[in-house]
Amino acid sequence: MLTAIVGINWGDEGKGRMVDLLSSDYDIICRYQGGNNAGHTVVNEKGMFILNLLPSGILRDTTVNVMGNGMVIDIEHLVGEMKKLTDKGISITPENLKISEKAIICMPYHKMQDIMEEERLADKKFGSTRRGIAPVYADKYMKKGIRMGDLLEDRDKLAEKVRDIVKWKNITVTGYGHEPVNADEMIAWLDTYGSVVKPFVTDVTTYLTEAVRAGKRVMFEAQLGALRDIEFGIYPYTSSSTTLAGYATVGAGIPGFKLTNTIGIMKAYSTCVGEGPFTAEMFGEEAEKLRAAGGEYGAATGRPRRVGPFDVPASRYGVEVQGADSIALTKLDVLSYLDKIPVCVAYDVDGEITTKFPIGDRLNRAKPVIEYLDGFGDVSKCRKYDDLPQAAKNYISYLEKAVGCRIEYVSVGADREEYVKID
Ligand code: GDP
Ligand code: MG
Repeated sequence: MLTAIVGINWGDEGKGRMVDLLSSDYDIICRYQGGNNAGHTVVNEKGMFILNLLPSGILRDTTVNVMGNGMVIDIEHLVGEMKKLTDKGISITPENLKISEKAIICMPYHKMQDIMEEERLADKKFGSTRRGIAPVYADKYMKKGIRMGDLLEDRDKLAEKVRDIVKWKNITVTGYGHEPVNADEMIAWLDTYGSVVKPFVTDVTTYLTEAVRAGKRVMFEAQLGALRDIEFGIYPYTSSSTTLAGYATVGAGIPGFKLTNTIGIMKAYSTCVGEGPFTAEMFGEEAEKLRAAGGEYGAATGRPRRVGPFDVPASRYGVEVQGADSIALTKLDVLSYLDKIPVCVAYDVDGEITTKFPIGDRLNRAKPVIEYLDGFGDVSKCRKYDDLPQAAKNYISYLEKAVGCRIEYVSVGADREEYVKID
């Protein structure tokens, strides 16, 4: 059983929460892309946790967690994240955490480059999380990356590699008018944090291949959502990695295996962090109410999220590019304060009404077509489909038809048990 859990929207759909719930049926959880620009919030009997790099399965005692080759890893951040969890009594050992030797290390100069570029862009900025993600992926494809496996090699070789790369990087850094990066400091940084993470670095491909052949169940946990995918998202306002289910086995380390199924996590309304077209965006008091009801402040950055009604064209597109077999609809309870629920049912692009998600400048010109569905009141106590008010059932079946995919789970609260399974 190889299952991908992916975002249908712009991210923050509640993937961490659903992975935490569903991971009891899986032996291994893999993160396969992105870095610490993600923030997955998990609330369970052990407390509340925000995970940036570690797979959400780390909070379960029996689950093995993999950080795949598709990831970019700031090892200083990772060491801090591990410490926060171990301080709360979570055990992290080479038995339950395995980091791919092929994953790329996100270096302090990547963060610095990210910040310098956002500042250079000023009012044209992308809304980067400033964690170095775009620069480190760029370096990966320039073949100037330092891999986790390099930490296991001969130290002199690593030091030489760092010196060569830093020399090259300084062409860029000084171009921004910044002091050059000091290679010795980078080597010392790698020594300090590398020594902590080294025991976890391993040949993940061999481990996963043997595990799958032995019948282990594997879940692939994505970060961000379809609309942030580097190729299929709202480029250039995307992340720098592939957020799609199609990349799950590649980024985790077992490209030869096929997924059994994909569960898309879709939010009952829309949110978006950062810049870029967000067609159905709400403003003013209407937005404030939804933001407050949903607690829509970024888990990684604390930034207020942009909010809007459920967006049919964007979500339908998300379902298609993810190839979702079923959907978990999250945060339905957040809409309980509304008498009438706005839904963006289509876009008006230059006078043409369409449910097809446009790209490029056509997306910038799209205007939302809003219709209203009946409000349904409090659903937070519902645990079975029959507990749901008829109007909530109508909202769910409306969304199912609109996006063309079955809704299998409805989440009505942040806690592990606050959900409804629809058979
Ligand atoms: P992720 O990045 O997709 O994992 O999502 P985030 O963790 O960034 O954002 C989702 C937020 O909503 C978190 O604070 C969750 O605890 C919370 N959450 C998840 N599902 C629900 C739900 O069904 N209802 C409510 N009220 N909160 C939820
Ligand atoms: Mg998030």
